[in-house]
Order: sequence, then structure tokens, then C-alpha cells
Amino acid sequence: MKYKSFEDFMTYAVERNPHMPEFQQAVAEVMESLWPFITANPRYADHALLERLLEPERVITFRVSWVDDKGEVHVNRGYRIQHSSAIGPYKGGIRLHPSVNLSILKFLAFEQTFKNALTTLPMGGAKGGSDFDPKGRSSGEIMRFCQSFITELYRHIGANTDVPAGDIGVGGREVGYFTGMWKKLSNSSECVFTGKGISFGGSLIRPEATGYGTVYFAEEMLQRSGRSMEGMRVSVSGSGNVAQYAIEKALALGAKVVTISDSAGTVVDEAGFTTAKLAELMQVKNVEYGRASEYAARVKAQFLPGVRPWQVPVDVALPCATQNELDGSDAAILIRNGVSCVAEGANMPSTIEAAKAFEAAGVLFAPGKASNAGGVATSGLEMSQNSMRLSWTREEVDAKLHGIMKSIHAACLHYGHGSDGKVSYINGANIAGFVKVADAMLGQGIV
Ligand code: NAP
Repeated sequence: MKYKSFEDFMTYAVERNPHMPEFQQAVAEVMESLWPFITANPRYADHALLERLLEPERVITFRVSWVDDKGEVHVNRGYRIQHSSAIGPYKGGIRLHPSVNLSILKFLAFEQTFKNALTTLPMGGAKGGSDFDPKGRSSGEIMRFCQSFITELYRHIGANTDVPAGDIGVGGREVGYFTGMWKKLSNSSECVFTGKGISFGGSLIRPEATGYGTVYFAEEMLQRSGRSMEGMRVSVSGSGNVAQYAIEKALALGAKVVTISDSAGTVVDEAGFTTAKLAELMQVKNVEYGRASEYAARVKAQFLPGVRPWQVPVDVALPCATQNELDGSDAAILIRNGVSCVAEGANMPSTIEAAKAFEAAGVLFAPGKASNAGGVATSGLEMSQNSMRLSWTREEVDAKLHGIMKSIHAACLHYGHGSDGKVSYINGANIAGFVKVADAMLGQGIV
């Protein structure tokens, strides 16, 4: 093997990707898990397989010019990282957030490749987005931005090439605008985005899928140790798509949810969420495009500005906002307060230090590439329905989603058992995802 150690490989990876901290972090997290496996199975390091996985197949950057409601012209930067098509068409969301840059999108596309492999469906990995900030923008401005974004991206995507979806800042409204412009430019009714409206090819349960899947995964982990979500005190971070449906499923399973958050602070509700409060949150966030503090005022809950949810004592924590939102000191507080399960709804919300602390403390810890894979899995189910030109019922899609989450859990157990008998879901998810992608790459020659 060319690299003598994990550290040796990381020196190479960091030199190749300077000034890309999030990408370096995602690579380190995967490679540290993989190293003992690759050492025992050196054929997986042959043919520069690891070096090839480090390099996205294609990186596209482009200018996005658009006009605001006052007639002022703005210029943003658009990206699409087509990381791997080894097991199927590129697949991964579009993120609209001012923090978006090449490092963040490369980390997300890299993660997506392994996550998509875990779903058992034939999808490669990609991610895209822009540094456009949708906060405070009118629907007309959002539409003009989305249309401008697609006037360039449309030539790089297609049902058998690359199938984008939503992510932070991109929900049903934005996917609708992307889809409309893509159809106009391509003169095709191929359904190239997932997360579409039901009336133009969307799948039932797709909006719910990431949050539901995260809770299904947490429930699998808990049941394995003779517990369940029933009666658990749960903290959720974020208040967007993933957070909302994680709350819905947690409530359905009998848990008590006591927090949500956004980038301005945390809402603490000791009385716990109810379905009526969740409907209010969805009204504030999805209809009025408002803030978590406005929701707190309406339901008379406490709002703590500038604070993250992790100081609140809970049994189960579901980070559902963004990367690196839970660090080593947050993990220490959660552990001290007796947390027993952490399932990531967001992508890489825990720092490496936090994830290691959870595993060392015996907390059941599910990395996002396993626990939040229900979203992309259901996108895969949307693609299947589009290809067959038919629609499955809610019950059918939910049953398939639930089955996929159970199979991801089983794959993590299969590869995650250490010699001490303990299960590392981090190692299990990384190795299971890697083996599928690596076998496909080895079978297709040097490309
Ligand atoms: P969303 O609907 O846009 O919601 C994002 C939430 O996270 C908002 O409450 C947002 O608050 C908060 N947030 C964003 N940046 C933050 C920051 N720097 N600090 C604190 N809070 C922040 O997005 P989403 O679809 O729920 O995605 C959430 C996470 O799940 C992301 O990591 C995404 O990659 C991951 N994920 C999503 C899907 C999916 O199907 N949507 C699938 C798999 C993984 P503000 O409004 O204040 O920004």
C-alpha cells in the first residue's frame, strides 16, 4: 500500500486540498474508520482507489446574476460537485446559504457518495448550491435567482446524469422553480429534480423522509438495547425540514421534544411539543418564512438568543441544523446530563471530537450518512416512481423508507462490530458505504 498510515494519507489529502477544513474533516472521519479495514483488505487501496475517491469526478462553478425587486443586480456563485457516478447517476441536494463554498460542498458531495451507497439504491454522489442568502427575499426574488441558477446548471444535469434535490434553503418552492425552468430550457418532461410538488411528479413522504428516517434509525438503535423512543426526552436543533419531521415522528413514537433552534438561538419548551405546536412551527417557517423566536413568542416558550440546544438535559439528541453545530464541549455537557442516544439528522453536525466523545462514553451515536439517509433514499423512490410513471401511496413509501432504514442499521452492525464486541456506527456506516462504492470502482477499471 502506498500510504503507510492514516496520518500519511491525510498529509497527502490536506496538501491536495489546502484551505478546505470541512472537506479535510469529512475525509479524516471516513478514512480513520476505513484504515484498519483497508490494511486488512489491501486490494481496496490498489489502482489509486483512495486517491481517486478524494478527487470529485467533476467540479462545476458558475456565475449566477439576478435582479432584485428594486431593480438592483446581484452576482452570486453557483456550484455543482459531481463526486462519484460509480453506482448510479449523481444525486445530492442544492444548498442556498451565505456560508456555501467549495470546501463545504466538497465535504457534502463526498459524504453523499457513501450515504447513497448505504441506501441500497443505485445513486452516485453529488452536491451543489450557491452563496445566495434567501433570508428576507421575496418569492419573486427567489424565483428569479432559481431561474438564473438553472440557466447554467441545466446543461450538466438530467434524469440519467445528475438528479439534484433540496437542502438548506431549498424546499418545495425552490425545487418547483428549478424544475419549471429546467423543463423550459430542455424541452423535456423528464423529472430531473426530486422533492417536487405532488402534482408534477413528487413522491408522498419525501418531505417527511429525512426527519422520519432519523427517528426510525434512533428507534432501531434504542430497541437493540431494550429501550425505545417512548417516554424519552428529546432535543432537536434546527427548525427546518429535517427538524420538523423528526419532531413529528418523535411525537408519534411517544417522545417529549423540548427544543428547536435556528442560527439566532434556541427555543426551550419544558411543556414539550404537541401536534398543535408543530403545526404552528410549520406555519411560521414554511408559510411565513419566519424565525424560531417568532414561533417561541406565539406558543409562549422560552427563547435563548445565541445559545445552542445542547445544555438542556435530554435522553436523545437529534442535531438537525448544520455541520459542526455540536462540538466537544457540547458533547461533554450532553454526556454529563445523561444522554443515551444521538442520531444526526443534519450532515456532520458533530465535530470529530464530539463524535469520539459520544462513542467513548457508550452513547449510541449514529453518523448522518446512516441516520439521515432516509431523505435521499426516498428521493431514489421518487425517481423509481417517475421512471414507471406511477405513484405509490403514503403507506407504501413509508414502509419502503422504514425498511431501508432498518437495512442501513443492519449494515452498520455488520461492519461496525469491534474486536471488543462493541458497535461503532461510525465505522459500520463508513465501511459499508465504502465497500459498495469501491467494488463498483474496481469493477469499472481506471476511469
Ligand atoms: P432547512 O429546512 O433550510 O433548515 C435548516 C435549519 O438549520 C434552519 O432552522 C436554519 O436556521 C438552521 N441553520 C442553518 N445554518 C445554521 C447555523 N449556522 N447555525 C444554526 N442553525 C443553522 O434545511 P434542512 O433541509 O432541514 O437541512 C438541515 C440539515 O439536514 C443540513 O445539514 C442538510 O444538509 C441535512 N440534510 C437534509 C436533507 C433533506 O432532505 N432536506 C437530507 C439529508 C440531510 P436559519 O433559518 O437561522 O438559517
